[in-house]
Amino acid sequence: MVSPGPDRAEVSAAGLVLVAQADLVGMVRGKALPRARLEAAAAEGVGWVPANLVLDPFGGIAPNPWGPTGEVRLRPDPAELLRIERPGGLAPLQVVLSDAEEGGEPWPGCPRGLLKRTLAEAEELTGCGVVSSFEHEFQLDPEAPSPHHDAFSLQALAAAEPFPAELLGVLAEAGFGPEMVFPEFGDRQFEVPCAPAPGHLGADRALLLRETVREVARWHGRRASFTPLAPGSGVGNGVHIHLSLLGAGGAAPLATPEGGGEEAELGRSFLAGIVAHAAALCAITAPSPVSYDRLGPGHWSAAFAALGGTNRETTLRIVGAGGGSAHVEYRAADATASPHLALGAIVAAGLDGVRRGLGPCPRHDGDLVALGAAERERLGVLPLPGSLEEALAAFEADEAIRDWLPEPLRGAYLRLKRHELALAAELGSGPELSEAYGRVY
Ligand code: GLU
Ligand code: MG
Repeated sequence: MVSPGPDRAEVSAAGLVLVAQADLVGMVRGKALPRARLEAAAAEGVGWVPANLVLDPFGGIAPNPWGPTGEVRLRPDPAELLRIERPGGLAPLQVVLSDAEEGGEPWPGCPRGLLKRTLAEAEELTGCGVVSSFEHEFQLDPEAPSPHHDAFSLQALAAAEPFPAELLGVLAEAGFGPEMVFPEFGDRQFEVPCAPAPGHLGADRALLLRETVREVARWHGRRASFTPLAPGSGVGNGVHIHLSLLGAGGAAPLATPEGGGEEAELGRSFLAGIVAHAAALCAITAPSPVSYDRLGPGHWSAAFAALGGTNRETTLRIVGAGGGSAHVEYRAADATASPHLALGAIVAAGLDGVRRGLGPCPRHDGDLVALGAAERERLGVLPLPGSLEEALAAFEADEAIRDWLPEPLRGAYLRLKRHELALAAELGSGPELSEAYGRVY
């Protein structure tokens, strides 16, 4: 039994908290309760329907084994509460991403729980923790393109004020460690890179950053969209996953994969694992029909299952050569993915590379498009999947990545994606489809 609820004054003083699940399509969904009840919810959990795992991005639900039956409990950790103070006398926006449990044990259908288990495996196998930062691009008011746009310009920044400065301040106050904010190459496109976070918090921050950006945009009557390719735009909104392995005593195997010694060898195998599984990873990291409007040559997104340094069309890039901030960047991801599954799958692929002693993987800094198909084939550089159907086929054919996703997650995920493909087929592949995704993301 939950204790009697707080009175009205307490609710309006402390506001509501959304106890939320990080779902399979990159959405934050949950149940809101008064802030004063969060500690009780942490002790007892909040009831949640297992079938919610297969909610599609448009508010429908995919076929699933649970139907109206079953119950899991979301267990929030009050220390992980995000609180954003809002203007205009509104109560703060509060949300806490939570693990799902069943009968007091981690529920195997929880994507966040799977990420935590994968990170624990990484620690065991490599002696390193994973640190990540999800770098997002997004567009303001994507449905009302401006008559002209000036990529990276002072004019574009000034025209968007007060949004950029306010966003940076809100993110700083919430502890995201924003590094900068700038107008990107696309029309009304912005980017706000933030500091890396350890373990599952990197993926949590990805979801919470998007909700914070959307919230600050709302204060100004604007809408922020993270859809992979806005209708009518030639420039995609990427989610670049920056990743480091950090061990005791400052070991950073991904920062020095070209060096000698065991640490560098570990880094090489980890990177080779990610490249080897790149096609299957796309089913998790670029998981919508519209994801493939963004990926592909000529978009500076990711086109090839290859490792690069300064080349922005490889799936994986070594960034910041040799320095303390050196790390890798995975580019074939977008905001229609679950950040928890995306980070988990990338790490699982790296761990498979370590277990199999893969590598070294050649580094391609030149323009791979200009090389031509025959030369790329000779070098063993494969294109990424060209559609979600192709990516799902690669996923099902890739034992290591397929088996990383345990039941009931795997079945639920595949059913959800096939259901999403059927919805997309009804909408057609043209502007209607990108508009539908643009409205949701
Ligand atoms: N907009 C590009 C993408 O879709 C990324 C451009 C860049 O920042 O390198 O991923
Ligand atoms: Mg960018």
